[in-house]
Amino acid sequence: MRTLYWMTHDLRLDDNPALRLAAQSSELAFATVINPDWFTEGRYGMASMGKLRWQFLQQSLADLIDSLARRGCVLHLLRGDPVAVLADLIEQVQFQRVVTSRQFGSDELAQLATLIERFPDVLFSSIDTYTLFNFSGLPMPVSDIPETYSRFRRKAEKMAVEEPCGMPARLPATIELDQACLELGSVDADSDPSQRLIGGEAAARAHAESYFSGELPLTYKLVRNELDGWDNSSKFSAWLNSGCFSVRRLVDLLSEFELRCQRNDSTYWLYIELLWREYFQWLALKIGKKLFLKNGSAAHQISGRFDAGALSAWCRGETQYPLVNACMKQLSATGYLSNRGRQIAASCLINELEGDWRYGAAWFESQLIDYDVAANWGNWQYLAGVGADPRGGRHFNLAKQTEIYDADGRYRSRWLD
Ligand SMILES: Cc1cc2nc3c(=O)[nH]c(=O)nc-3n(C[C@H](O)[C@H](O)[C@H](O)COP(=O)(O)OP(=O)(O)OC[C@H]3O[C@@H](n4cnc5c(N)ncnc54)[C@H](O)[C@@H]3O)c2cc1C
Repeated sequence: MRTLYWMTHDLRLDDNPALRLAAQSSELAFATVINPDWFTEGRYGMASMGKLRWQFLQQSLADLIDSLARRGCVLHLLRGDPVAVLADLIEQVQFQRVVTSRQFGSDELAQLATLIERFPDVLFSSIDTYTLFNFSGLPMPVSDIPETYSRFRRKAEKMAVEEPCGMPARLPATIELDQACLELGSVDADSDPSQRLIGGEAAARAHAESYFSGELPLTYKLVRNELDGWDNSSKFSAWLNSGCFSVRRLVDLLSEFELRCQRNDSTYWLYIELLWREYFQWLALKIGKKLFLKNGSAAHQISGRFDAGALSAWCRGETQYPLVNACMKQLSATGYLSNRGRQIAASCLINELEGDWRYGAAWFESQLIDYDVAANWGNWQYLAGVGADPRGGRHFNLAKQTEIYDADGRYRSRWLD
């Protein structure tokens, strides 16, 4: 069968069931689409793809291109509106099948739906490569994903996660495409040497080896709320969300670690956090476009206004709240912010500045290297009180947070001075 493998958030060879399926073809082409819309101002006046995530994505693609080249395959980088570009390609090359990874954002799902409708004779396969569970093996059907995480977790915790699979032993002959392809420039040219989030499967594997070779998993729960410090949380998110690393592989390594070293509250908690990620994916699939609505799934109307001055001060880290400013400076400088920092910054925009949470979510989307549509918009809705568990939002007392997490002022002086 002549197959197109449309790569998206699955930029890896290891534990990639979509790749394994695509490999069962007589002829295969690999393609990914860079959408120019990512770089233009969207509805909230911000581009979706900021500089640091783009750098990470380019590094991830460069690594994948190398890995595929070593197996005699080419990854084609196409540019344009994904539906238009892929429709052209399917028509010209007469593909019989398109394999891709399951998406969770409503825009991405709509793109696929358009292609499916346009090509009724082509077989489209959407494969689960991004989550712990498969669509058909969820603790409950997607339509019954509960409103609260705890109800999901209680069931999900008892379920076994499928073992990860290795790379396919061989890949079929690849089809050379005539389409004009993008070249990745010199992606490392102006990257910050202190940046530890480097895109690509090889960097992800190296990070996993380092994380599980020491004792960090044994103290994860004790330190995960710290505002700063590479070792204080696992730092897997960017690699998971670009697909450079499989979440099932991560869980497998965690289980291996528990057998080899020890199982404790912290190793257990790391899994519980991965279940949050899982929950947000399936919740996004269930609620669709509601994920982006100001009132989300809540029955009530919420306040929160657009105030250009206040929003811009918040984005730049120039509010009257030093702890929030430090968080926002760290985010812009590094493309990363701890979970605690994200909660504090979001709570400030929603509660102190009485802003519309969607502008904050859009800013995080552009700045976070680990941006994930379901986790980002889902967490924002949760904090605003209109998403999962929509019983009023979460308001963090900034003075108290400063006292608990930055009593000696070290975090503030690091990012504000
Ligand atoms: C307002 C806000 C926006 C966020 N936006 C994103 C986002 O775009 N992408 C993203 O991956 N996470 C997001 N998170 C969740 C969380 O902050 C990050 O996953 C975490 O900080 C990443 O660092 P880590 O890998 O070291 O996390 P760890 O603490 O080591 O956690 C391990 C893994 O569990 C998952 N996880 C942990 N906490 C959460 C959570 N609350 N929701 C979903 N998954 C979680 C992540 O995959 C993470 O890599 C957001 C949280 C908030 C409050």
